Order: sequence, then C-alpha cells, then structure tokens
Amino acid sequence: MSKGFSQRSPAWKLDYDAYSIHCRWMERVIQIAEIAGKAGDVPVAAAIVDEEGKLIAEASNRKERDRDATAHAEILAIRAACQIEQNWYLKNCTLYVTLEPCPMCAGAIIHARINLLVYGIDDPKTGAIRTTVNLPDSASSNHKLAVLAGIKESECRQQLQNWFIQQRNR
Ligand code: ZN
Repeated sequence: MSKGFSQRSPAWKLDYDAYSIHCRWMERVIQIAEIAGKAGDVPVAAAIVDEEGKLIAEASNRKERDRDATAHAEILAIRAACQIEQNWYLKNCTLYVTLEPCPMCAGAIIHARINLLVYGIDDPKTGAIRTTVNLPDSASSNHKLAVLAGIKESECRQQLQNWFIQQRNR
C-alpha cells in the first residue's frame, strides 16, 4: 500500500475537515450579509476567528446605514477584534468575508497581520487580492497573507446578484 493512504489520519481527510470548517464560517457570514442587505446596504459580511476556532468579531457592511465610506465589513470586524483582543496584531487569526476585499480592506487585513483570508467571490470592480491588483504580494505589503478564494462562491454570488436585482426593481 502506498504510504500516503495507509496513515490513520490521511492528509486529504485533514484538508477536507479544514475545508468543511471554512464552509461553515462562510455560511455564517452569508447570513449576516443577508441582514445588511435587508437594511439597505450591499450584502457583504466578515468574521474574524482565532486559531482555536473561536469567533472574535463579526460585522456587516454599514456604509449606507452609517453614512461612512470606511464602514466596510472587514474594517468594522478588524476594529472590533482589535478592541476585544486589546491588540492591533491579530496573530494567527482567519478573516472570512463574502466578497474579495477592496484596496482599503486588503490594506487593513495586511496591517492587522491576519494569518489567513478566506473569501467567496472575486470582485471585478475593486478586488485587491488578485482581481484588479494583488496587494498582499505587492511591494507595499510587509506581511505574508495566506488566501483561500472561492469558498461558497455560488451562494455569495447569488446573494449579491439577488440584492442588485431587488434594488433595480424598487
Ligand atoms: Zn473594503
């Protein structure tokens, strides 16, 4: 038998367990984004989870509600997490967000030293992780950010599309 398949906890099993955890957190942020959408904001939400899998902070986009250009879900979640942790350095944390972060949020994620970024869909307009620009791998970044894109992608896409259709039909 080949070595890789005879282990008690094969690598693919660990990978699948990690994937399942990412899917569950993404389902949660999709639910939070739905509430933002009903309140008139573009449905985007984020959550920050520590290395033990404990939720530190979560937030949705509040740009319209707060009349604040910086009130993106990731920024609000990072601010809340830093307050809770009493530290700007969010070491070994994972940030989940439904949409690829914009340049402002990608910058904040890098500054907070988030370990892993998990997001649902690419943003063709302002995505700053890989779509319009790759900030984490650019010369402006002093932090190595691991990224997983496309988790619960179709659900995230559907949610945004439905919201924009509803806004148009208002
Ligand atoms: Zn943003």
